[in-house]
Amino acid sequence: MSTHPAVPLKERIRHAIADEALIQAVKKTTDKLEGGKLSSSEALGNWEQWREQGNRIRSHVVAHLDYYLGQFIENVKKRGGHVHVADNAKQAVEIFLQIAKGKNAKSVLKSKSMVSEEVHVNKALEDNGVKVIESDLGEYIIQLFGEAPSHIIVPAIHKNRFQIADKFSEIAGEQLTHDTPTLTAFARQVLRKEFLEADIGVSGSNFAIAESGSIVMFTNEGNGRMVTTLPPVHVAFMGMERLLPSFEDLETFVNLLPRSATGQKITSYVSVINGARQEGDLDGAQEFHVIIVDNGRTNILGDEEFQEVLNCIRCGACLNVCPVYRHIGGHAYGDVYPGPIGAVITPLLKNDFETWGDLPYASSLCGACTEACPVQIPLHDMLVKLRAKKVRLGLTPGWERTAFRAWKGMFGKANRYKLSIKAAQMMIPFLAKEGYIEKGPLNMMGWTHARHFPSPAKQTFRDQWERISGELKGGGNHE
Ligand code: SF4
Repeated sequence: MSTHPAVPLKERIRHAIADEALIQAVKKTTDKLEGGKLSSSEALGNWEQWREQGNRIRSHVVAHLDYYLGQFIENVKKRGGHVHVADNAKQAVEIFLQIAKGKNAKSVLKSKSMVSEEVHVNKALEDNGVKVIESDLGEYIIQLFGEAPSHIIVPAIHKNRFQIADKFSEIAGEQLTHDTPTLTAFARQVLRKEFLEADIGVSGSNFAIAESGSIVMFTNEGNGRMVTTLPPVHVAFMGMERLLPSFEDLETFVNLLPRSATGQKITSYVSVINGARQEGDLDGAQEFHVIIVDNGRTNILGDEEFQEVLNCIRCGACLNVCPVYRHIGGHAYGDVYPGPIGAVITPLLKNDFETWGDLPYASSLCGACTEACPVQIPLHDMLVKLRAKKVRLGLTPGWERTAFRAWKGMFGKANRYKLSIKAAQMMIPFLAKEGYIEKGPLNMMGWTHARHFPSPAKQTFRDQWERISGELKGGGNHE
């Protein structure tokens, strides 16, 4: 499969950029999301101060994670909830399977949860004969296609209406029109029945409030509320870092998250769940479980270079502005988190630079991701540091190490540097046509495969400098 991590990153990228429908669909939606973010953040005012505040709160939580986790767990238990801590994906899935077996569950209904995608809970359930239904529209679409999400917020971003209409028509047994109301009405009609029949509801958790043991979800479709209230058991998956100390801190993220994610002032629903149904409550699950997932996060805790990446609130804004993501979509990254955040966090969570160490190279290092991040994570700096780490681990190809040694030898001495530049200049007439190199040699081929490379200036900066300073000394005029 072209998106499998065993397939080299370059090949995955080649496959993605050959898919014109994917590029058009991703561009259309990321343009819309980015435009919405710019106008809604401007309308809020003092956006930089909000970002600073977001960074302060998240950095504080991550620095005191043991304290806030302890407080959160204690408060969930006080309200009668069950807390499970999973060291890794396998454990998280086992815990969930145990809950499902204990309830003799036949069907599980999910709202959007990236952590559940991270631990691959759907496959494990299906392998154990449990039916899994995704109720978020985007997730439902990709489930029908048998694919993984390709965006943190908009999982089916790479699909257009025509592709979705064809897929829904297969299920409906009749040709549906490709207008949005018809497609959403169809999904609604199919999913309604599932809400009433599910044995367990699964949700994610955008934030968890330590002072009360609550989980908070930002949703737009209303499915989150049904998933967490209709089935008798509610299981929430949560990355261990997703805590906020108090409701007061939530205010900052009510402002930052929806604006950064979808350009909305606020999502249609902001749900706070304080555990299972209590006496006198009109609705709610009878049993509430939280699965707190580590799965590599403690690899990052305490690492001075990378700890700040745990501040991430999974808004997806860095994806929408990334020129690489916008051209290849999410699947080419090979794992659940795509874009700049994925390129940083995937090798760190997996602590595997041999398989995932190429991801930090999927960036132009333009810095747009850092600028877009609502909690000021210096993503492009981290991408450079991860590249350096890969070099330190000796995982770069032998030819690259030889090339850099040769480059160092050449550029380390002024006379050799001048000689190499002269040699390169002699090559230009053979390579450049009308100011551009259309077919570059060796590694430059990767660049010129997709666009022309501007021909270097005929005179180097040093030559020009020498000429100008010579003329100045000789009293020349340089107007
Ligand atoms: S790194 Fe920042 S911009 Fe990217 S998803 Fe996380 S919070 Fe959003």
